[in-house]
Amino acid sequence: MSRTALYGGVEAGGTKFVCAVGDTTGHLLETITFSTTSPEETLAQTIDFFRQFPHVQAIGVGSFGPVDLRPGSPTWGFITTTPKPGWQHVDVAGTLGEALGLPVAFDTDVNAAVLGEKRWGAAQDVSDFVYLTIGTGIGGGGMINSALMHGLLHPEMGHLRLPHDWERDPFPGVCPYHGDCLEGMASGPAIVQRWGRPGDELPPEHPAWDLEAQYLALGLVNIILTLSPERIIMGGGVMNQRQLFPKIRAAVQALLAGYVQHPAILDEIERYITPPGLGGRAGVMGALALAMSER
Ligand code: ZN
Repeated sequence: MSRTALYGGVEAGGTKFVCAVGDTTGHLLETITFSTTSPEETLAQTIDFFRQFPHVQAIGVGSFGPVDLRPGSPTWGFITTTPKPGWQHVDVAGTLGEALGLPVAFDTDVNAAVLGEKRWGAAQDVSDFVYLTIGTGIGGGGMINSALMHGLLHPEMGHLRLPHDWERDPFPGVCPYHGDCLEGMASGPAIVQRWGRPGDELPPEHPAWDLEAQYLALGLVNIILTLSPERIIMGGGVMNQRQLFPKIRAAVQALLAGYVQHPAILDEIERYITPPGLGGRAGVMGALALAMSER
């Protein structure tokens, strides 16, 4: 009798770590969540969790960053220049791999979510798609011909430069590098600073959401025109404001102005711009998919 292959997934976030053991069908046997404290303590908790499962074959880690993903680099698998105290230049993949004696697949949290959405979520039927997360920051990744986009490092769609109507919105933006890039104007911290309150304290009819939808739509239009994705999945804490979806879809159609003649955009945009199929589990399921992708 053959035992079902088990894999481990780690959603390594700056606030919390989520670890899970699951099989190739996406069934999770066990999940644990703990706060991200020091690297020593947090990685020890991760190792202790997986030691309970001797049949795990590989671990996948979808990590906050920046991270080193360059094959052959002496610091591959490290979190590098993060502002998070204590986590600069931490060898996440190496520490877990040595302690557990297992192969470790390592990628950004966004790329892990891309893999999860492709395997079990909202991108199962497409080969070219983009996943955007709108939260503390804005991150984007995706697949081309069913392969992850890596390129030079990895895509940084959160820092797209956008037209800025200073009369409508005098807010200068929060990105320390660019000010009013997409992340600077539309991330969770941008909403807090512009309106003086976090998004989940603003009512659905607040003008914040029309402005938010306009910036996100400007970003999406650039992505659509550059990459021609078959679908765009939008997750992250800000997108829990579900009133944004119809506003974004309408703004994307208006900005494209009929130029991209495809039914996906003209007639079926509800399916084209969509929430994650895996909801809040996209991160850890993606890390699990990452573990499987390395075998
Ligand atoms: Zn920026």
